[in-house]
Amino acid sequence: MDTKDIKSMNLEQLKSEMEILGEKKFVAAQIFSWIHKHNVDSFDEMTNISKALREKLKKNYYFYGCTIEKKLVSMYDETVKYLFKLHDNELIESVVMKYKYGYTICVSSQVGCKMGCTFCASGIAGFVRNLLPGEILSQVYTAQKDLGIRISHIVMMGVGEPLDNFDNVMKFLSLVTDENGLNLSMRNISLSTCGVVSSIYKLLEKKLQLTLSISLHAPNDEIRSRTMPINKRWNIDELLKACRDYTKATSRRISFEYAMISGVNDSDECAKELASKLKGMLCHVNLIPVNPVKEKNYRRSDDNRINSFIKILEKNSINVTVRRTLGSDINASCGQLRRGESNTFENKPRVNKIKKSKQ
Ligand code: SAH
Repeated sequence: MDTKDIKSMNLEQLKSEMEILGEKKFVAAQIFSWIHKHNVDSFDEMTNISKALREKLKKNYYFYGCTIEKKLVSMYDETVKYLFKLHDNELIESVVMKYKYGYTICVSSQVGCKMGCTFCASGIAGFVRNLLPGEILSQVYTAQKDLGIRISHIVMMGVGEPLDNFDNVMKFLSLVTDENGLNLSMRNISLSTCGVVSSIYKLLEKKLQLTLSISLHAPNDEIRSRTMPINKRWNIDELLKACRDYTKATSRRISFEYAMISGVNDSDECAKELASKLKGMLCHVNLIPVNPVKEKNYRRSDDNRINSFIKILEKNSINVTVRRTLGSDINASCGQLRRGESNTFENKPRVNKIKKSKQ
């Protein structure tokens, strides 16, 4: 990690940095508050800090963040997609969604992605680097400032695999929940992984109250290995064992994401197999009609198929919802975010014939 990125430092680190610079420790609290409460983007905005010290800070630290390169607002809902530029000119995407309970932001954790899921846009342009904790935070702060809102929920479901950037993501989580900063409740944060089992165990040790989402997307190894290369490293049984252990350790319910892809993973047999695999687990299944990605030719399952899938899961006492598609006209939906800029082809809003829809 770049130790000179000031936005990535917690209060303790800032205190020791100020000590090294020969400054009073209380300055650390002032800087922390400017960055994490007032969301400033430069040292010059820290008006209660002397000009001399601001100059010293500029010489010693970077103020990495993200600037708005492009902003798209959905015509169908109030979803906003940002294309953010980083200090090295790399581009990432984030999405803000309005729900009844408040604003949720979907943040990226890496520039690009290594995981190679065949239905997803995030890895198409390759992997460049991990995001720093401050760069993940900046997505939240910049969106809040731009929209004049307070974000109440975060989903780590943007570009990248959060558990492949473990230390920076853990640091981000501790900063965003810091009572001297945004002070978000850990319970309002979801972290999604394609199934990096070794890191699920590392996360388990931390016993955080966040919601762990698992991108499962298949009921058996044959289908999963074909669509998600990570399955060749850790298969479904190993992944589900890690999930059971995770629930045992944290008492938290796991959320399984399941993209419904026509003719790939959406048959009644698949539903039955999925139900038997998840039997007895404290879990929830979130079905996502697969979203279009122009380089791939997967088609979403039709509504009758989805309804039949739901019926089978429910008959087997598995909790299931269908994710509402937000921001489809601006390619802001699951799996459509990417390194660089998404294409923004026009999609018509869908008339929803699915019985259950998640808010
Ligand atoms: N790498 C993490 C975080 C990304 S979250 C993970 O895989 O979980 C993005 C979610 O959208 C994941 O569940 C991902 O599998 C899913 N997804 C990817 N492409 C999709 C698509 N075309 N349609 C619907 N969901 C998709």
